[in-house]
This record gives sequence, structure tokens and C-alpha cells, in this order.
Amino acid sequence: MERPVSKRIVIGLAGNPNAGKTTLFNELTGGHQHVGNYPGVTVERKEGLRQYNGYDLHIVDLPGTYSLTAYSAEELVARDFVVDEQPDVVIDVVDASNLERNLYLTTQFLELEQPLVVALNMMDVVENEGKRIDYDLLAGLLGVPAVPVVAAKRKGLEELLETVIQVAEERRRPRRHLTYGPELEEHLQEIAHALASVVDLGTLSPHWVAVKLLEGDAVVRKHLGDRIGADHALFGLVDRARLHINEVVGDDAEIALADRRYGFISGAVREAMRQGTRSRRDWSDAVDRYVVSRVLGLPIFVLLMWAMFEMVFRLGAPPMGWIETGFTALGQAVSQALPVGDLRSLLVDGVISGVGGVLVFVPNIALLFLAISLFEDSGYMARAAFVVDRIMHRVGLHGKSFIPMLVGFGCNVPAVMATRTLSETRDRIVTILVVPLMSCGARLPVYILLAGAFFPASAAGKVIFSIYALGVVLAMVMAWLFRSVLLKGPTTPFVMELPPYRMPTVKGVAIHVWERAWMYVKKAGTVILAFAVVMWFLMSYPRPEASDLVGLTQQQVGAVTLEHSFAGRVGKTIEPVMRPLGFDWQTTVALIAGLGAKEVFVSTLATAYSLGGGEKAGSDLREALRTDPHFSPLTAYTLMVFILLYIPCMSSVVVIWRETGTWKWAAFTVAYTCVLAWTVAFVVHSLGLFLGLR
Ligand code: GDP
Ligand code: MG
Repeated sequence: MERPVSKRIVIGLAGNPNAGKTTLFNELTGGHQHVGNYPGVTVERKEGLRQYNGYDLHIVDLPGTYSLTAYSAEELVARDFVVDEQPDVVIDVVDASNLERNLYLTTQFLELEQPLVVALNMMDVVENEGKRIDYDLLAGLLGVPAVPVVAAKRKGLEELLETVIQVAEERRRPRRHLTYGPELEEHLQEIAHALASVVDLGTLSPHWVAVKLLEGDAVVRKHLGDRIGADHALFGLVDRARLHINEVVGDDAEIALADRRYGFISGAVREAMRQGTRSRRDWSDAVDRYVVSRVLGLPIFVLLMWAMFEMVFRLGAPPMGWIETGFTALGQAVSQALPVGDLRSLLVDGVISGVGGVLVFVPNIALLFLAISLFEDSGYMARAAFVVDRIMHRVGLHGKSFIPMLVGFGCNVPAVMATRTLSETRDRIVTILVVPLMSCGARLPVYILLAGAFFPASAAGKVIFSIYALGVVLAMVMAWLFRSVLLKGPTTPFVMELPPYRMPTVKGVAIHVWERAWMYVKKAGTVILAFAVVMWFLMSYPRPEASDLVGLTQQQVGAVTLEHSFAGRVGKTIEPVMRPLGFDWQTTVALIAGLGAKEVFVSTLATAYSLGGGEKAGSDLREALRTDPHFSPLTAYTLMVFILLYIPCMSSVVVIWRETGTWKWAAFTVAYTCVLAWTVAFVVHSLGLFLGLR
């Protein structure tokens, strides 16, 4: 009688020592075993065969290990087996009564992104201890199937085999649920990207190779060096990244990566472990009882954010005043040194007012990033993510969207790129669409300027906080809307990481602050400078007829010239659209200029007042705004709302285009943000008028 040809499935059996691997292996294969050695090393290689439902299951017992580094022969053997022999599935045997410790190895297999099934062994012990594991949830969080078994009592083995066969048939690779946080992930993505363009890795995950290179794994580095040359530029990139991480995090990349894995595990176990008393409760757990609690978590978060903006505004005010005085003095000095004419106007009204108007906010930018990096480095940001996760879920945002959105407070461009960690396209696009509503650093100068000019110092911090909060709330509303109309579908579960609290290092924080502040200064000296010059030209030409200026004061001459210029005409043309919001044509010009980069709104306004101000050239911009009859606290607030919401800058639009792969999402973002900005600003303005504000 002829038997149908069985399908062969190669299975690697891995796990920590004493997780029950041998027991499981014996139960699965019975007597059909073969013992040999791995080539070149004295590590025993046991293989066995099991026939099941028309499949030949070829099971290889891997050495018991806690990790997959290159430090020991056992770990290398286990890793090389997966990398070189490409088994159809790896079964990771986990001692479920020791879940946190055992999952570390699991994270290493997850990184390899090869088909994986977790066997949660020793479930009898777990039950005896009165604990319960929500294994479906755990499986969802890890992104791979998790099957409860009791190897010693042959319980759950059939289900395990069924699952293994299913995964093998589908060649189902784990989705990357484990990410390493913005700092590390940025480097990893960069290295993985570079790798993919340099060498064909086959089925090997570039992200895994990048992790290993960052860890300083000598074996992976040597292998790669043999293929592309040991002095390839890629290794320079890796070494620089390692150095940078070391400086910023204050630890070796290897430790930083391990920390994130532990954070991932700790978050997963916290969510999946039901009941039962946790054995250890260190102070970090004690703090977390309040910080991530259902009741207090959100208020604590809001309070901290509010305190942050108070600090940014109040501590930033004095140094801002010094810089302002400096630029005013510089403007006056140049005014006195040069004769009246285009050159003087370009330098004083265009360059000094424009760029100076932006540079005065350096202290605020530095303070904002000081606060953000303190939150991030101490481990609080991870808690904040944990707290808002429930809300994010409700509106259909993936929990992992939190990091890109957080990055968005700095700059929307890297924030859009950071959505790469989201594996589901829908999750990714929704996140990209709402990231522009996160108020980036470039918008802060506008708020500080307007809040400082029109609100008392005691209220300015709260005003700015309310704008940021409005952005976040609208992001939630829009995400929910996009999710229910454009991009329907379930969200994928993921682990909220809870890395241990740690003391931020002075050096790490200093580097973050310095990098951001320097980036801002560089931008002011390049992009903003260029825009300031262009805007000065557009606001100065064409000149009005000399006959039109007869008999006017110098200040009136300035005003007429501005109105007659290109920019003035464009502003006047569009003004009717903006009038319902309470904006005059000068503001409209500045808003259009701000499309390039939002700081340009400030520099353009500075140039406009400097040009139009005649004798007052170079004087305080806030003072000029305050005395402008077109402005009131209500218009100022409406303007802040509009600037928060309308089209993110050109660079963001381009990066959205690039990251979504189609101009349509970029165009959609431009369109919807314009509509949203106008609508919300209109509502705010009308409501203000209705309430009798002005
Ligand atoms: P290995 O080091 O991973 O190969 O682990 P072993 O298979 O040698 O198992 C270690 C110990 O755990 C042995 O004493 C086993 O009898 C025991 N063991 C294995 N599976 C289970 C299980 O499901 N429940 C319980 N209670 N003990 C188990
Ligand atoms: Mg064993």
C-alpha cells in the first residue's frame, strides 16, 4: 500500500536551561532520537523525528541558553542554527513560572524575525502559585503564538504541534513588536537602511543585523566585513552611532538595548499576568502604583506637561530679553552706521529683525528640550505612554503611535519617519496624518511671541499649554474620524514598555539640549535667513510712485510701500478669506510666508513691522504688536490656533509624501489641515466675539 508523501518540517527547540526542553523533546519524539555534535564545537546536537497528521516533524534540540550573543559556544550554536539552517519554525520553550527571566531569550528570537512559537511550559506550577497568564494577550503582545503546555504531563502538546504546523505552512514571521525607543531606533533604522543598500542579506532581517552591529557583536561584524570589506563606510556609521548612544544614554549600546528588552518584557508581563502577588516590589513599582494608576495617571501627566510649559515660558523670559536687547542695539548701530537706502533696510528690517526675531527664542527651545529629555531619560515618558495608551486605543490609534507623536513635539519630520516602527499600514497612515497636529518646536516662538504680547506673564504659560493640548485633543478626534471613515480595521496589540526609572545623566541631557538648540540656530542662520531676505524683497518691491508719497510722514511712507509691494498685494487679495478669523492682510502675508517653515511667520512679521514702522525700526516686536489696532488678545489666540493647525511646513509635507509613497496622502494632509485650521479658528474667534471678548 502506498503512503502519501509526508511533508517535512524542520523545528528548532530552544529555551533557557531547565525550562523543560529535554522533557518536551522526549515527549514529542519518543525513542526516535539521534545524538551527534555540532560541527567544530563540542556541543551536543540531538535530533528526533515525530510523525503527525501527515507531517514529518524533524526536531532539533538546541543548547539551553539565556541569550543569543556571540559570547558562548552554546549561544552561537543556537543562533547559527536559526540563521544558517533556516528551520521552518523555532519552538521557544519558556518556563512560565519564571516568565520575566525566560522571555529575554524570546525577545532575541523575535529580533531574528523568523517563524516562532512560544511554548509556555510549567503551567501546572503557575496554577499552583495561584497565578494566571492571559496567554492570548501575551501572544498578541509578543506578536507570535503562545501555547500553554505541561511537558511533564503531556498536556497541550497536540495544540502545540497544530500551531507549529500552521505557522510553518504560512511561513509566518513575527511582526516587529519590540522597538528600542526613539534614540536607539533612529540609529537602527539608519544602519538597517544602509545595510539593505550595501549587501543582500537574503532572509535575514536587516534590523537584526543592525541590532547586532550596535551591540558590537564581533561575529556578525566579521561575517559582514568578509563580504563588504572590514573598512567599509557602514562600520564607520555603526561606530559613530555607538559613540553617540554612549554619550547620550550614558551606557554602552549593548546595555541600552538590553534595557529596552527588559522594559518590553516587564510591560508585557505586567499586562498578561493576572492575579497573583508579585514577588518583588521595589521602589520603582511603588512609584508606578501612582504614576501609571488608572485614577492618578492622567492628572499627573497633565500636571507635568503644564509645569513644563510654565517653566519654558517663565525661565525663558529673562535670557530672551537679553538677546532681544542685543538685536535691538545691533539694529540701531547698523541704522546709524549706514545711509538710508536699500542696503540698510535689507540689513535692519530683513536680516536683523527677521533672523533676530527668531533667534530670541533659543532659550525657550533649549528649555523645552531640557524638559523633554529629562522626562525621556528618567523613564517617565514610557509611563506617559502607558497612561495614554487606553485613550489612544479608544480612538483607534496604535499604542506605538505615541512615540512618533512625542517626537512630533520636537519636529514633525523625524516624527513621520518614526512611524516606520508601525507594521500595519493603516496604523501608520493614521499616525502620519495626525502627527502634524503635534505642535513642533518651530511653532513655539509664535506662541511665546503672541502669548507674551497679549497675556499677562501669569497666564502665558497656561495659554501655551492650552494650544498644545488643543493639538493633542484634535489629533485624537481626527484619528478617530479617519479610523471610522477612511482607514477602518482593528488595531494590533503591542507591549507598553516599562523600563526601570533611572537618573538622567547631565551629559546625556546636555547633549540632547545642545543638539536641538544648535539645530534651531543653524536653521535661523540658513533657511530662515534666506526666507527673511526673500520676504524683505517681496515686501519692499515694487515701490509706489514717488508722487503718492508726497506729504506723508516717514511711518506712513513705510505703510504705503508695504501695501504696494508684491507681498502686500497677495495679502490684500487673500485677506477676505481670513477676515472672518479677525486677521488683517499683514498677518495673512506672514501666514503664507510661514508655509515654508513656521518660524518664518515670526521673522516676516518682524520685517513687516520694521519696514512699516519707519522711525521705530528695530524696536520690540511684542510692543509693536500690542500697539497695532488690528490685534487683540482674541485675535492673538485665534492666530495661535490657526498656526498650530494649518499646513505643517514644506519639509513635513515632503516627508509625508516620501514615507507614504504617494503624493495623495501629502495633498490630503495639506487639504485637511487647512480646512481644520480655518474651521477651528473661526469657531474660536466667533465664540470669543460672542462672549464679548476682543
Ligand atoms: P531542560 O534543561 O530545558 O532540558 O529542562 P528539563 O527537560 O531537563 O527539565 C527540567 C526540570 O523541569 C525537570 O526536573 C523536569 O522534570 C521538570 N519539568 C519539565 N517540564 C515540566 C512541567 O511542565 N511541569 C513541571 N512541574 N515540571 C516540569
Ligand atoms: Mg536538557
